[in-house]
Amino acid sequence: MIPVMKPYLGEEEAQAAAEAVRSGWVAQGPRVARFEESFASYVGAGHGVALSSCTTALHLALVALGIGPGDEVIVPSLSFIATANAARYVGATPVFADVELFTGNLTVETVDAVRTLRTRAVIAVHQGGVPFDTVALRAACQSWEVPLVEDAACAAGSTAYDRPLGDGALLAAWSFHPRKVITTGEGGALTLDREDWAARLRRLREHGMSVSAADRHRSTQPVFEAYLETGFNYRMTDIQAAVGLVQLGKLDAMVARRRELAARYRELLSDVDGLTPVADPPYGRANFQSFWVLLDERFGRGRDEVLAELAVAGVSARRGIMAAHLEPAYAQARSSRLPVTERLTRDSLILPLFHTLTADEQDQVVGTLRKLARG
Ligand SMILES: *Cc1c(COP(=O)(O)O)cnc(C)c1O
Repeated sequence: MIPVMKPYLGEEEAQAAAEAVRSGWVAQGPRVARFEESFASYVGAGHGVALSSCTTALHLALVALGIGPGDEVIVPSLSFIATANAARYVGATPVFADVELFTGNLTVETVDAVRTLRTRAVIAVHQGGVPFDTVALRAACQSWEVPLVEDAACAAGSTAYDRPLGDGALLAAWSFHPRKVITTGEGGALTLDREDWAARLRRLREHGMSVSAADRHRSTQPVFEAYLETGFNYRMTDIQAAVGLVQLGKLDAMVARRRELAARYRELLSDVDGLTPVADPPYGRANFQSFWVLLDERFGRGRDEVLAELAVAGVSARRGIMAAHLEPAYAQARSSRLPVTERLTRDSLILPLFHTLTADEQDQVVGTLRKLARG
């Protein structure tokens, strides 16, 4: 079976993890500090705060912005459900905005359409690694005086306007889950430019402590920490950060390989009627963390039938990106019409794409799709 995704991990990552274990320092320590600094520098941000996941990163971002009960947070329904859940964690109401068909992302217009006097934040996703229009949406949010949190869970290594995603973001949240491009097992980060916020986020991830556990252990004198506010345990471990440092060194190569495979998919599928593969937007370059294709009537087969036929042919594909407003957890949520979201989630599927995918495997995926299109 050709998997839909496979993390690209090797002997180097295993050794790095083993060294962390042998050092005796396995919780958050020097490797986490090095990883968050290296990652922030890679994405063009002043500061990085390593965390246990992107879900906890989104939660902390809203805590840092002071979002709470009575507030509305605009999110896309078309996203992994963690994006909408983050608003609920702080007692706020997620308000779903529709996306554009081409990128699967929020736009200034779709956000503006659901904006109210209670809107206190927008979480916009760089969906599947396809960047939203950073210049347009950041400027619009600034003019509305509504902070923009960028859910860049899938987007490490993507660019917009020739700058890495993360560069210029108020707060960007990242994931290092194995389903994303680089992985630390589980893991996440926030990147940002404001130093005072970074210091507070580092406290919040560690129970609100005034002195980090790592600094206390390093000190030769007794250090008495204070607990300044209600914090969380959202720390990454040094074992994870050791793996992350190796993965970060491979990120450029991984993105280049994914872009090459995506281009080959697009070329091989270009003459199939009724099937539109995801592509770069005019203003940026995607890392193609998810390579989706959108079907229409001309293809002649429904999405679920295509998924089933691919499975029979030994290809593990996935339904397209989910829509939170269609899930039981959000059945009671107020929602405006989301026609593009519903079309994308119903008619798209994600094809296998990973670093070690071979041309033969790719041909097998394409061959199956072509046969289905003809039949
Ligand atoms: C995967 C994902 C998340 C959650 O990331 P975790 O690190 O698994 O918590 C959040 N948002 C989006 C858009 C994602 O794809």
